[in-house]
Amino acid sequence: MGGVPYCVPFRVKFDKVTMVLRILTYNEVKTKREGIFVMNKINLKSLLYLIIVPFLFAENPPSDKLKLMAVEKVESQSKLIQEMVDMIFSFGELGFQEIETSNYLIGILEQNGFKVTRGISGIPTAWMAEWGKGKPVIALGSDIDGIPKSSQMPGVAYHKPIIEGAPGHGEGHNSGQAVIVVAAIAMKEIMINEKIKGTLKIWPGVAEELVGTKAYFVRDGYFKDVDACIFTHVSSNLAVTHGQAGGNGLLSVEYSFKGKTAHSAGSPWRGKSALDAVELMNIGWNFRREHLRPPSRIHYIITDGGDQPNVVPRNASVWYYLRELDYEHIMELFDYSNDIAEGAAKMSGTELISTRILGSAWPRHFNEPIARAMYTNIKEVGLPVWDKNDQALAKAVQKEAGNKEIKGLPTELDSLRGPVSSKNNWGGGSDDIGDISWTVPTVTLRFPSNIPGLPGHNWLNGISMATPIAHKGAVAGAKVTAMTLVDLFTDKGLVKDAKKYFKNQTKETKYQPMIRKTDKPAIELNEEIMRNYRDEMKKFYYDPSKYDTYLDQLGITYPTIKKK
Ligand SMILES: [Zn+2]
Repeated sequence: MGGVPYCVPFRVKFDKVTMVLRILTYNEVKTKREGIFVMNKINLKSLLYLIIVPFLFAENPPSDKLKLMAVEKVESQSKLIQEMVDMIFSFGELGFQEIETSNYLIGILEQNGFKVTRGISGIPTAWMAEWGKGKPVIALGSDIDGIPKSSQMPGVAYHKPIIEGAPGHGEGHNSGQAVIVVAAIAMKEIMINEKIKGTLKIWPGVAEELVGTKAYFVRDGYFKDVDACIFTHVSSNLAVTHGQAGGNGLLSVEYSFKGKTAHSAGSPWRGKSALDAVELMNIGWNFRREHLRPPSRIHYIITDGGDQPNVVPRNASVWYYLRELDYEHIMELFDYSNDIAEGAAKMSGTELISTRILGSAWPRHFNEPIARAMYTNIKEVGLPVWDKNDQALAKAVQKEAGNKEIKGLPTELDSLRGPVSSKNNWGGGSDDIGDISWTVPTVTLRFPSNIPGLPGHNWLNGISMATPIAHKGAVAGAKVTAMTLVDLFTDKGLVKDAKKYFKNQTKETKYQPMIRKTDKPAIELNEEIMRNYRDEMKKFYYDPSKYDTYLDQLGITYPTIKKK
């Protein structure tokens, strides 16, 4: 599995300013030279102890030895990582309906001594797991939901659904919980052995594709006592960024109209069509589109278009995602949108009966001190070693996607990237981790379980997600996460620096939720789709007691590539 052999030269240095002993690794010496303060500190008592009896390192190991332990513990759990990635892939559940996924993960957390509170914020598939005592409190999160119509046989480089039309992991959210759960278990064991104080929390990004839950976790106080948060997300490289991230924030709103039924042929003049209102609203937005700022993204689907053609539709609804770079511009779009909806109601002689917020996401802003500490760990771990099968699958999938460049999997790490200025941000996707990133110091670790250059939210993005590519990528991610937990729990300076940065971040921009006090999570979403597919999907759940991997269970030769 991925990872650089872990032998780190230790250098001991006494820092007069902070009165702590610092054990510097080669990388830290290097980063310090670059003016980056990523230090591992131990307290004064330990300092005296260490000066008097240097060989007692073994009894109070410096944090780099702890990182070595963390890496070894993750490595020893790589089978569990593979099983978790494959299992959640096989569940393929959509947002708010992650019932099997949630039960499975809670089972693993409880077996490992975490106390789990289920159903937080009134969301049946959400939870907050907790282990340990006292400060610091470090929260770990990752998304768990799938994508509609993205069912796909893993390891097969062309469209071959497991079940035609069924949901699947066409984003890769089946991999992130393995990363954080295994990292947390490793850290927990280290904390027990080394008597390190602190609390670990683990939570799921339920319905991330609907940006449906994290703002509620924040509103309901689940991050009140949290000192820092590590979030992980699937990607095609091992990376972290700091400052304002690219992409947009968004508001997800459903507009519902009410008219009057009539016989569509016999007496259409007696009816008022709610579908007319929906269509007029969409026309309004499609004209307005020309006069928006370039980073804006507006998209919609019609969730209710009436019952049958010969009955003038009494009810109709349309669901919009309104995306922009910052809170003010998102709210401006919301105002336009409400005006357009009212205009559409007037034109059609119908009534706008509800403007329901189904989800929201603040734009993301990540914490610089934690990102820098994490990036040092990323360099230590490095990218996984891909074999020729991994590369062959990646290239075949890139070809299938119609890409001009067929580069395979990356062999070089991304650099540590800083803030994307508004001037250079052309908009894009969103993630409600944004709300958490404006509530507590937060970073997102991106780990290499997927193939670069794919369209996203597509069966193509599911192909690698239960193969050695996903497994190796998740192991690398878990190592970096565990090492960064060591930093956060043993280096008090890091948490302090992170908070200082956060204070500065929030000096001018104050977080205010886009959800209103009366809004409730839209937990009924996707219920019907899952009801239609679940029985059939159950037949394909992964059974690790019988099969080593999910590929084995499905009888797939890795990789399966189209013959010319
Ligand atoms: Zn995602």
